[in-house]
Amino acid sequence: MLHIPCPYCGPRDETEFHYGSEAHVAYPENSANLTDEEWAKFVFIRSNPKGWMAERWVHSAGCRRWFNVWRNTINHEFGPSYKPFTQQPKSPA
Ligand SMILES: [Zn+2]
Repeated sequence: MLHIPCPYCGPRDETEFHYGSEAHVAYPENSANLTDEEWAKFVFIRSNPKGWMAERWVHSAGCRRWFNVWRNTINHEFGPSYKPFTQQPKSPA
């Protein structure tokens, strides 16, 4: 069982959370003028690195708040979590 560190509640079981994709993906500024291909790239294409990655998660069975957290995609180890629009901590690696 994984424990995910919610920045509002502290560590909780993984069953209380839902994954929300990669963190810090900016919404396109000219969204009204994007082609279908550009929209598809924004919606579906993510960096998918091997190693530490900043991700969005929601504590859906707890405080129901969204937050960001570092996760190692190799072994699913979780690093520091942080609230949206706050300073991003350095990657644990
Ligand atoms: Zn929480």
